[in-house]
Amino acid sequence: MGLSDFPSRKLAFLPTPLVELPRFSAALAEGQGGPRIYMKRDDQTGLASGGNKARKLEYLVGDAIARGCDTLITGGAAQSNHCRQTAAAAAACGLGCHLALGGGLPGRAEGNLLLDMILGAEIHWSGECRKGEDMPRIAESLRGAGKKPYIIPYGGSNAIGALGFASAAGELAGQLAESRIEASRIVFASSSGGTQAGLMVGARLFGLEQELTAVCIDKAVDEGLDFEERVLSLANGTAALVGLEASAGGRFGPADLVLRREFTGGGYGVVGELERRAIGLLARTEGILVDPVYTGRALGALIALVESGEIRKEESIVFWHTGGMPALFAYEREILTHR
Ligand SMILES: *Cc1c(COP(=O)(O)O)cnc(C)c1O
Repeated sequence: MGLSDFPSRKLAFLPTPLVELPRFSAALAEGQGGPRIYMKRDDQTGLASGGNKARKLEYLVGDAIARGCDTLITGGAAQSNHCRQTAAAAAACGLGCHLALGGGLPGRAEGNLLLDMILGAEIHWSGECRKGEDMPRIAESLRGAGKKPYIIPYGGSNAIGALGFASAAGELAGQLAESRIEASRIVFASSSGGTQAGLMVGARLFGLEQELTAVCIDKAVDEGLDFEERVLSLANGTAALVGLEASAGGRFGPADLVLRREFTGGGYGVVGELERRAIGLLARTEGILVDPVYTGRALGALIALVESGEIRKEESIVFWHTGGMPALFAYEREILTHR
């Protein structure tokens, strides 16, 4: 089966723009200037203010509808962008939406949580569990009430969801060729692994030859599986779905994956100087917002790699902006430390 054989529901504004960031680049390395930097604007995909989950949801919701389901269930942290985009997708398709969110009802609903509520999602507070651990129980009770629930895993990261990023790799390959951009690498945030796995598969499908430099966001180990193994297993599962496995290059192994783990700082969602500086610098040089949890950290990593000399000034690189802007509204104290 090829990518176009899978059911999908049009939800995102695609293709997203590929733009250059000359003023941001000029400000790097203490004003000495950095490499040529392009940004893939997946913060502009739509679904209640953009983000990478829109691409995965096109295939996940397509699958849910093809199976006759009437309610989406997913889970994540209280500020999950994936949950907010799932709530928007459900609303747009006339489906119900139940979210298992980590923590408990806060005094104020801010950022993504406020949007989940406006979008009409039913929220189940899950305490310590921020990766959707309560979803099977919610599904069971919905079935008891005569519903047909569809569980979307944490981050939308299974082989179906990753198809969205296999396809995205083709979109970027076309834009790079059309604009004659010779980039050496693509830098992006990786957390539940679907974006990374999908790009790995899409890179083989569409001949995208850049290094895929994934910046690990979440320090915690996922489901007892080493994160690297999880991404590889997702990539191989996705490759099998599209019939790639047997052909070019064989199975994905550790040598096919670049995962930078040294930027996880204080852990998931903990904003430090790395993120603060990246958020402020991009905003003030380009008027573009990155988020405190994912893209602020990944852009901070990019800045660090430029300043350490690992990314050279002669290079051209692509930063994949995966969205997350609404979370800024829940991080005032961490971002404006001098107020
Ligand atoms: C979910 C998310 C990511 C990480 O994508 P994964 O596919 O989960 O690895 C990156 N950036 C933002 C803004 C996200 O919401």
